[in-house]
Amino acid sequence: MSFSSLGLFPDILRAVSDAGYTEPTPIQAQAIPVVLEGRDIMAGAQTGTGKTAAFTLPLLHRLTPYANTSTSPAMHPVRGLILTPTRELAIQVEESVRDYSRYVALRSAAVFGGVNIKPQIQTMQRGVEILVATPGRLLDLMQQKSVTLGKVDILVLDEADRMLDMGFYEDIAEIVAATPGHRQTLLFSATYPEAIKDISASMQNNPGRVSIEAAHTQDKIKQLFFEVADKGKRAAALVTLLGHYHPASCVIFCNTKLQCQAIADTLQEKGFSALALHGDLEQRDRDQVLLRFSNKSCAILVATDVAARGIDIKDLEAVINFELSHDPEVHIHRIGRTGRAGKSGLALSLYIAAESHRVNAIEDYQKNPISLSALDTLKVNQKLDLRPPMVTLCIEGGRKNKVRPGDIPGALTNESGITGDQVGKIDIFDHQAYVAIERSSVDKALQQLTRGKIKGRYFKVRKLQ
Ligand code: AMP
Repeated sequence: MSFSSLGLFPDILRAVSDAGYTEPTPIQAQAIPVVLEGRDIMAGAQTGTGKTAAFTLPLLHRLTPYANTSTSPAMHPVRGLILTPTRELAIQVEESVRDYSRYVALRSAAVFGGVNIKPQIQTMQRGVEILVATPGRLLDLMQQKSVTLGKVDILVLDEADRMLDMGFYEDIAEIVAATPGHRQTLLFSATYPEAIKDISASMQNNPGRVSIEAAHTQDKIKQLFFEVADKGKRAAALVTLLGHYHPASCVIFCNTKLQCQAIADTLQEKGFSALALHGDLEQRDRDQVLLRFSNKSCAILVATDVAARGIDIKDLEAVINFELSHDPEVHIHRIGRTGRAGKSGLALSLYIAAESHRVNAIEDYQKNPISLSALDTLKVNQKLDLRPPMVTLCIEGGRKNKVRPGDIPGALTNESGITGDQVGKIDIFDHQAYVAIERSSVDKALQQLTRGKIKGRYFKVRKLQ
């Protein structure tokens, strides 16, 4: 099947082709025609299945008649509202909206908590047709009369199950009540607990059911289970797995925040580049962890399920379950983070004999036999270079200092002998900018940025280790 056969407007197809997509993923092939018909849908799809484009592309198509270049805010009321559980997901979804709408004159913005509300109020005052929001912050903006939802045609609840887990039910209900009754409602959820069915029953109108079998994604994931003699040996088993498979990027799942931090500390002591991601981190630390992982200056992320939600890492080589989840659905969700977009993935799980029932529950749930492997058959390469390929430099100047992504490569490659291909991902925040540099050139880069000016100014620069 091709994208063009779905009937999307040419300006949207052009953006899809720019993104390099050649054919729709299964969830897109199923969901897009139903949404284009104007029907509600209830879609079962995890991150990694292409779900964002599955709702964004038809949403843009249906909102295209509202596209306009007027500067009057009145001409840009919110027409499409996408609710997401986390700030990270909101940012990612809005980036996708912007990518796919690059040839359509529709404005978009993301609003989320944990940051200053004023710039978001200003953005809303200028008007946007497509708003991506976390529920709490959206309610704040509504209470301040900075947003009205009376013109919403399409409402998307993305990762609805997670929004419920995070206690957003009341907030969602209040937001939905502020939208017109005739709106189209698209509900995306990885799992279907009763509460999701209730939400669908109360907020949707005869929704089309769309889902893709978990097996579709599992085909590409090699899943291995390793029994560990007792709890105390888990950490050593983890080190064996990392030493044998040596994934270039991996997420290790733990069931608690404490465990998460302890494992990250243990791995760091052993020379691995590992960082913990859990709910107790300050927003700024969380941002740093995520950007270091995505720019390849940290290879291992040790995360809880909640913290890992909404992070989209494209080339995750492996997922490791330090401890099995209590819920087989969560397990499938975890391992679905590897083997994405056509690539093969590796999912490794540790368990002790007392947790065999969890292994059985997973086997039943996925309707596929599980392969048990033995740790003592794995060979560990002792001479591995455990250091990640890149190192992050933090520049103490960001958007508020008028530093833009394009300024940094220029400042770096000027006279220093550093070439553009040694410069990796650049992330700009309000007060800091981060740039990944190939390990072999990082000292030279640090010197260059410390001694030279960016945008005519000197900034403090340091290595994140
Ligand atoms: P999502 O499930 O929305 O988080 O998307 C997972 C990844 O798949 C993202 O990196 C998308 O850019 C990518 N993607 C989405 N649709 C397609 C497609 N039709 N072909 C190839 N990659 C896609």
